[in-house]
Parts: sequence; structure tokens; C-alpha cells
Amino acid sequence: MQIYLVGGAVRDKLLGLPVKDRDWVVVGATPEQMQAQGFKAVGKDFPVFLHPKTQEEYALARTERKQGRGYKGFVVAADPSVTLEEDLLRRDLTINALAETAQGEIIDPFGGQQDLQQRLLRAVSPAFAEDPLRVLRTARFAARFADLGFTLEPETQALMRKLVDQGELAFLTGERIWLEMDKALSTSQPGVFFAVLEQVGALQALWPELAAHWQRHPELPGLLSKAAEQALASAQMLALVLLDLPSNLKTHFLQQVKAPKAVLQQAEALQKASQHPGLRLQAAEEVLELFEQLDSWRRPELTQQTLVLLVLLGQLASRQRLLELLAACRKLSAQPWVAQGLKGPAVGEALREERLQLLAAEI
Ligand code: ATP
Repeated sequence: MQIYLVGGAVRDKLLGLPVKDRDWVVVGATPEQMQAQGFKAVGKDFPVFLHPKTQEEYALARTERKQGRGYKGFVVAADPSVTLEEDLLRRDLTINALAETAQGEIIDPFGGQQDLQQRLLRAVSPAFAEDPLRVLRTARFAARFADLGFTLEPETQALMRKLVDQGELAFLTGERIWLEMDKALSTSQPGVFFAVLEQVGALQALWPELAAHWQRHPELPGLLSKAAEQALASAQMLALVLLDLPSNLKTHFLQQVKAPKAVLQQAEALQKASQHPGLRLQAAEEVLELFEQLDSWRRPELTQQTLVLLVLLGQLASRQRLLELLAACRKLSAQPWVAQGLKGPAVGEALREERLQLLAAEI
């Protein structure tokens, strides 16, 4: 049997990026041979094995042919006669269809290295249009590699559109959609994910209300990359995308994409925070009012998140600066006022005025 490193690990290595997961393909082996070597079978739909020590995934080389609609329409063959090239042929993008031998030699039957150099997301073959998930995957890679200058090759874009036009996206399950969306929201340019989906008609086909919302808010891509810089979690990023969408549509969307319950909670919390009048106005009076509210909130992570939102929607330079300001407000002591002879509610009022001055100096 021959073993090759494949997929994302080879791609990321060639791009000079850190490699997270390593996937392997085994050519010329049977499941029995793998198990005899101590590998543990884990694949449900096709033969995948876990290495007894590293726990990395080793898949038997396989071919896939689509014979019917949806996911049940795939015929998978994984016998020892399947070649590496046949296995690479069923992959989505050329940059994901690279393999490396144990000696470090790159095997590249579809021009993946050239596409890496030219920064192109290109389908391996027209068979790309057999799996609707590839529309989401490609949009996700566009977002992930946007900063490196990757663009969508026109024929690949046409194949994505074909999948959309044939109604194949309706076969995607919410779980699969969320897996891709979650990863896309964790890139540096989450807006590109939605923009690419919109470009090929997928956003409109999957979620018409979100597509309309996206068009109504041209500021969203910029806001999302700013939010990505602040390292917001994917749930918060999605909450930001959905901000101001009517609550029933928001809930419907989140149920459809099978987002975890926490995402809905985040979305609701952000909506509530954003409705505070102090958020959109820049007056120190209102920020102070908000601060007083935030301070009384019991959950600190909610406070953090609301601060981030304040920064994103407002004009403050950074979340850090806002936190510093609020910390300084918090530190102010009533003691000097008491020493001056103030008593009762007058102390609270003086303290509030002092905080107001502090905030007003920067907002
Ligand atoms: P990441 O770094 O995000 O994990 P990856 O390329 O390793 O990226 P995986 O989802 O782990 O992505 O998939 C591993 C490889 O399997 C891909 O590089 C690609 O070659 C192939 N692959 C995965 N899903 C599909 C699919 N739906 N259609 C075609 N090929 C796929």
C-alpha cells in the first residue's frame, strides 16, 4: 500500500500557512489490511480509519459517481484498484486536490500548484456540480483566502450557479450548512462568504430574506471584517449579520441553518443592546447611561459582547479604549466628595458628573 498526505494540509503547507489537520489517502489496501495494522475503522459511508497512535484520518482511495439527486445519489467505490489520481479527481477545488509522498514529492494532476500561485479557486472538473455543499465550501475558501488575493475562476463560478439553478441546494441539510457557515464566520473576511453566495444566486435560493437584508446593508462586509479583527466568535458574527432582521425571520433562519441555541441567544442579546438609544448617538450622557446598565448586568460575557458592538456601531477607536474608559469610570471613588462635605444623593450625582466628564472627553 502507498500512503499520501492530501487535501488541506498540502495546500496550506505550500501557502506557507500552519497546518492544522492532516488527512491521508491509502492506495492499494483493503479494510482488512488496515485493521490488521491496528487502524480503527470509523467511516460510515466510506472506509476511513484512525491511526492507532496519531489518531489522524486515513481514507482508502475512492471514486464517487453521482447517479441520482441529493446525497443518496452517490455511488462510492473504494477497492484497492482505485488510483491516487482517481481519488484526487473527485475533490472539489484544484488547490485541495494535491498530494504529497512520504519523500516530500508533490503530486499535482490538476494544476493545483499553479492555481495556488495565481490565487485561483478552480473546480477540479465539471463533476464539481455533483455536490451542492461545494458551493458553500468554495464560498468559505474565498473568505478564508481573501486576504491572500484568491478569486473565483469564472467557469467554477458558472458551475456553482448551475448547482443553484438546478435546485440542488435544497438537498443540503441544516447541519452541513452550519458546519460551513461556522468555519466561514471564523475567517478574516466573513463578508466574502455571503458576497460569493450572493454572486452565484445561492443566498437568494437558500434564504431570500437574508439576501434582501444583505442588499439593504452594504455596510455589512466592512462591519464584519472589523468584527473579525476584534476576534468575535462565530455566533457573535452571525448575530451581527442578522442585526435588525425581524425577530421571526431571524429565528427561522437560525433554525434552518441548525445553528446552536447559543447563537439565537447572542442574536437576541445583540438586538436588545443595539436598540439602546445610546448606541447610535454619540453623546456621553447616553454612553454613561448604557454603562450604568451594563454594569448591572449579571453576565460578564454579555457585557463584553455589548462593548464590542458599541465599538463596531459607534466611532470609538477600539474595544480596548472603551474598556479602559469604563474601567476608569468604575475606579472613581466617592471619597473626595464625601471629604468635601457632600452627603446622601448629592454624592452619587457628583460621581456621575465626574464619570460623564471623563467619557465626554473622548466621545
Ligand atoms: P480545512 O483546513 O478547512 O479543514 P480542508 O481542505 O482540509 O480545509 P476538509 O473539509 O477537511 O477541508 O476536507 C479535506 C479534503 O477533502 C479537502 O481538501 C478536499 O480535497 C476534500 N473534500 C472535502 N469535502 C469535499 C466535498 N464536499 N467535495 C469534494 N471534495 C471534498
